[in-house]
Amino acid sequence: MRSASSDMRGYTMIEIKNLNYQYEDGTVALENVNLTINKGEKIAIMGPNGSGKSTLFLCLNGVYKPTKGSIHVNGEPIMYNRNGLKKLRQIIGIVFQNPDNQLFSADVFQEISFGPMNLGLEKEVVRERVESVLDSLHIEHLKKRPTHFLSGGQKKQVAIADIVAMKPEVILFDEPTAALDSYHSQLVNGLVDELCESGITVIQATHDSDYAMEWADQVIVIQDGRVIAKDNPQKVFQNVELRERAYIEEPNVLKMFNCLCRTHMIENINDGKCPRSIEDLVKLIELL
Ligand code: ADP
Repeated sequence: MRSASSDMRGYTMIEIKNLNYQYEDGTVALENVNLTINKGEKIAIMGPNGSGKSTLFLCLNGVYKPTKGSIHVNGEPIMYNRNGLKKLRQIIGIVFQNPDNQLFSADVFQEISFGPMNLGLEKEVVRERVESVLDSLHIEHLKKRPTHFLSGGQKKQVAIADIVAMKPEVILFDEPTAALDSYHSQLVNGLVDELCESGITVIQATHDSDYAMEWADQVIVIQDGRVIAKDNPQKVFQNVELRERAYIEEPNVLKMFNCLCRTHMIENINDGKCPRSIEDLVKLIELL
């Protein structure tokens, strides 16, 4: 698989065609999923529990092989042999929802070194890479700490560092701020933004419609293993029927914007544009 640099934003990074995945017990978790994801895009995946988000991530990471259909990464089909999967995991990394499923080394330095060591890099190169990741994710202070004594938020930061140290082109985040307090949620969201700015394609499963409204370029909605929408956040969240069908909450900014439109305090409800953050809404109101 060829590698794509950050200046190639916009070209097709992942192409999923007619993807089906059925578990051994017969549960059909994904059905006829077709998606194209471009380099550098910020994608939010939403849908109720059990809709197939984690299964999709595990298919993208090569843990599960599609029962039917295919996944192309950088124009080439995923190869399910040892070499193919090793290459795939250098391109696509996954940060699991529960860091305890991901962290297993004695201390943080060893933990973050594990992936690059497995790539067969020189010890000195690994050390430099780990130092650089610790620095860029602002967690140098955790370097010598035993992983099992870290707090939930710190574990999440180290789990992200694990993946960043592999220098992937795409990172999949399964509900990255679930179970985090607001300080650590903001910290993790900030890290995600920095990764996006560096050109990494980020796909996040989230239930947080306020966050998805503000952050995502595209929102994909999955229900019962099927993709029922893929569009920009304004279009997805303005679709009441879709939101109700997939149990997605209306973002607060949209609630307020729609209320202001209904009461004619703001005109142009039909121009399709609505603010994506409270800050943008405040600016709009200040212009009235
Ligand atoms: P989500 O991440 O959106 O909560 P999942 O991908 O975990 O959804 O699950 C999709 C469907 O697959 C659900 O019906 C779930 O019960 C089922 N499922 C998940 N893992 C397994 C498994 N190991 N064996 C059988 N069914 C599974």
